[in-house]
Amino acid sequence: MQKCIGCLLSALVGLFLLLAAGPVAAGQSAGACEVKDDAAYTAAIRKNTTEPFFSTELVDHLPWSSCVPAPDTYLGHIVGAPDVLDHVAEINAYMRLLASRSPRVRVFSMGHSEEGREMILVAIADEATIQNLDRYRGITARLADPRGLSDADAKALIQDGKPIYWASGSIHSPETGSPEMLMELAYRLAVEGTPLLETIRKNSIVLLTPVSETDGHDRYVDVYMYRKHHPQANTYPLTWWGHYVSHDNNRDGITLSLDLSKNITKTFFEWHATVLHDLHESIPYLYISTGTGPYNAWLDPIVTSEWQQMAFYEVEELTQRGVIGVWTHGFYDGWAPNYMFWAAVGHNAIGRFYETFSNVGADTSEHSLEPSATSREWYRPNPPLPKVKWSARDNINLQQSGLLLGMYNVASHAQEYLQNFYIKSKRAVAKARTEGPAAWVFPADDPRPCDQARLLNILESQGIEISRAQQAFSALVPRTESPAIGGESKPVEAKEERGEAKPAVATLAGGEQKTKAKEPATAATQHFPAGSYIIRMDQPYSRFADTLLDTQYYSPRDPRPYDDTGWTLGALANVKTVRVMDTGILDVPMTRVEGKVTVSGGVKWSGHATYLVNHNTDSALATFRYRLASVPMEAAEEPFEVSGQKFARGTFIIANGDRGQIEAAASDLGISVSATDEKLSVARHGLEAPRIALMHDWRETQDDGWFRISLDQLKIPYTYIADTRVRETPNLREQFDAIILPPDWDDLSGMLQGIPLRGNPMPWKNTPETPNFFAPGLDSSDDIRGGLSYSGLANLGEFVRQGGLLVTVEGASVLPVDGGITEMLSLRRPQRLVCPGDILQASVEDAKSPIAYGYGEKLYVYYRAGSILNVGFGFGRRHAEDGEARSSGRGSSTDPDVIQGRNYMPPEEEPKRTPREQELYIPDEIRMYLGSRIPPADQFPRVILRFAEAKNLLLSGLLDGAPELAEKPAVVDVPHGQGHILLFATNPMWRNENSGSFFLLFNALMNYRHLDVGRAAK
Ligand SMILES: [Zn+2]
Repeated sequence: MQKCIGCLLSALVGLFLLLAAGPVAAGQSAGACEVKDDAAYTAAIRKNTTEPFFSTELVDHLPWSSCVPAPDTYLGHIVGAPDVLDHVAEINAYMRLLASRSPRVRVFSMGHSEEGREMILVAIADEATIQNLDRYRGITARLADPRGLSDADAKALIQDGKPIYWASGSIHSPETGSPEMLMELAYRLAVEGTPLLETIRKNSIVLLTPVSETDGHDRYVDVYMYRKHHPQANTYPLTWWGHYVSHDNNRDGITLSLDLSKNITKTFFEWHATVLHDLHESIPYLYISTGTGPYNAWLDPIVTSEWQQMAFYEVEELTQRGVIGVWTHGFYDGWAPNYMFWAAVGHNAIGRFYETFSNVGADTSEHSLEPSATSREWYRPNPPLPKVKWSARDNINLQQSGLLLGMYNVASHAQEYLQNFYIKSKRAVAKARTEGPAAWVFPADDPRPCDQARLLNILESQGIEISRAQQAFSALVPRTESPAIGGESKPVEAKEERGEAKPAVATLAGGEQKTKAKEPATAATQHFPAGSYIIRMDQPYSRFADTLLDTQYYSPRDPRPYDDTGWTLGALANVKTVRVMDTGILDVPMTRVEGKVTVSGGVKWSGHATYLVNHNTDSALATFRYRLASVPMEAAEEPFEVSGQKFARGTFIIANGDRGQIEAAASDLGISVSATDEKLSVARHGLEAPRIALMHDWRETQDDGWFRISLDQLKIPYTYIADTRVRETPNLREQFDAIILPPDWDDLSGMLQGIPLRGNPMPWKNTPETPNFFAPGLDSSDDIRGGLSYSGLANLGEFVRQGGLLVTVEGASVLPVDGGITEMLSLRRPQRLVCPGDILQASVEDAKSPIAYGYGEKLYVYYRAGSILNVGFGFGRRHAEDGEARSSGRGSSTDPDVIQGRNYMPPEEEPKRTPREQELYIPDEIRMYLGSRIPPADQFPRVILRFAEAKNLLLSGLLDGAPELAEKPAVVDVPHGQGHILLFATNPMWRNENSGSFFLLFNALMNYRHLDVGRAAK
């Protein structure tokens, strides 16, 4: 309540100041204003700073201006005051108030979040610069795309230009210091007159985004202030950090699926900021990003130097000022391109971040640190203290001091930073002809055109230019590359000749050979049809395209990674991409694609009786099914042919459909439908549009958001239900056909308990005190305590027995497996496997299962080591599994081990069994003892997708200890009662990157009544 009075007061003060100043303020010269020390504010800063070594002369005071209102006059408290946080509307309003009062400040809207909150960009510089922002934006835009720009002209632009330093606050909602700090920084930059600040204002342009995750910030302020006002009550979790994902909103830099990522990327293209500096709060006291390496291998090496130079400058300057615990190097790696600040890094600018110490709010409290956080290391010569009192103001001081120094560093070397930006951009354009590749090709005959377009449009949203070949052409492709990026399926053996990666052979444009060129042993000619998409590498963002499409090798010798280690997008989308080194491809006649890539769809052939949609696993087919949810459809159980065209197993069959309705859906979605009057004899079954529930937990939601994003984008309806509702709904089957458990949990105990049932009830609803808890698309409840409990587990089991489909992903499989619903399955924690987010090869084992409909033999899947799924009772070890040796004895390990005093008899050969035979093997002599524990054969688990053998397992990332996972089940279907449980060891919906796996889930959903189809007779 106290806070709301504060809001009212501050709003009144703001209004008063506005009225008092009159309408001329924005044009007023800053020089006409009186500026002096703000004694009260300064005193409050010092009072709330716990130690002198948590402050600098840059921030230990605040000036007062007769023209521009300081933060406290609007907010009712100083920035960094204890126990108070501000909502987005107040922060944005203060920034707009600044802009209305200072000619050095302007505010731009960056767009809105999923829940409709505004993200803003505050631009600050001296008056002359602010009046010419468009001109400076024009200069950075020209340097960003230096095609046709001479070095002399570039030099003139660099002399004339100004680097742009963009600081972004609170992408992670419990990290609350930066939105407050950026208000004070904006004010300070607008009014203070020290040489350091004048240099920043004169030589550069500062951009500030006070809150990046606006939805989550407001929700967290509610959670925090509720706790402050009700210290005895149960503490609320921040169930939703943002609308979709939690901490992972900072891993959306590849597909730009969240509104905040889209807004930041769009804003980057409007300014081409030289530096994007993201502010985080977690570890003591100020970590400045460089990372341990390995650094992303596709970046211009200049970036690495820039990271080091900037970090060491700030470490040194702060250490000179006596600040303790400022360090760099450790903590993170620098490998994956999925961080938000890749909006800059991926586009030839600099992306970096801070981690300051945090109290997860504005508390002041004592902290004892683990020895690992306080040890002296080469990169941390002045480490944090074992024990310290830490305040919100300490956090503000360190963030703001570091940022001011970073901004000063760039402003003082303005031309150097612009020059580097130009060189990086220029070398990115030269990449096609220097290191290569020359281009990436997306062949026009890809069997999955919709997901091909989806992937191309991700690249387009990253500013990557796409062209289309006007005619068929050929190009040489290195034989040594992985088949996932166009190489041959088997590596070339000994005859491979090195050093011919860039053959001098002319490209054979037009599909015809101009000269009969000799093909080098290292490369093979591939032919591409007219209309193939070409991503030329002589464009400014070639490096980002190459980063995203290439394969990645992360050595087990390198420091442990911080996030995913593989991300090859073509493989994840199951879309063919070819890496072409042959520079002749740049001369193929092609047209630039303007805007988004679209696929033309519609109904072909003139029949009226039956409409056929060939199953190609394009994600759009699922959209099509739901768009025509009321139209009966069937799925073909075998491949078939009509009028010379082949249709895959799983093809959608619509009898007596409404041509107009089908045509409209097909053409909107880019789906090709064939209309025939031929009588089909292929076996088929109903293809449903089932009622889906996606279950969440009240403790936290992290990965379910990626499911929601992909389902929402594809317009597949679902109900978002809580564990507590499942607990209280005995007949789930009446409401749902399928329930999906995304991988947010991995412990049965935690799932059953949820938020423990103690203390007061905890409603999750919007109230005057918590106005931001709920938004459409989220969930609400009268009480979020109690978890799933045993009754929830029982309800889920009953749901399956009554014919429902339960889908569990990654760790969530502990519920049916360790919870005792499934049989002949176990989960094992990896012992030696290191696989922290990789792309692995898997093969379809059971092509007749409806879950595999439309897929080919192989699929690249996303996997991160959690639990390993095992099928069977564990009898019958496979030959030489785990490299086991024979018993101790005579001779070498392979010689006959002769027993003394009798004739030698060689041991029985270990039987060679396939993985499936091994899993289902039960020795006859044991069968009778197991007796009733063995389910009938038609209830055995059915492995649909299996990881490849160890030597072929890895496509991209860090993989160590592969034999532990090799040939293990990746997707398993288990019948149970009338229904099925589908267990994914992989994750079929990860960060909106792996659309190639989506249909494993969609097939299971749409065929949920018929998953036993095609089961091999035992
Ligand atoms: Zn963070």
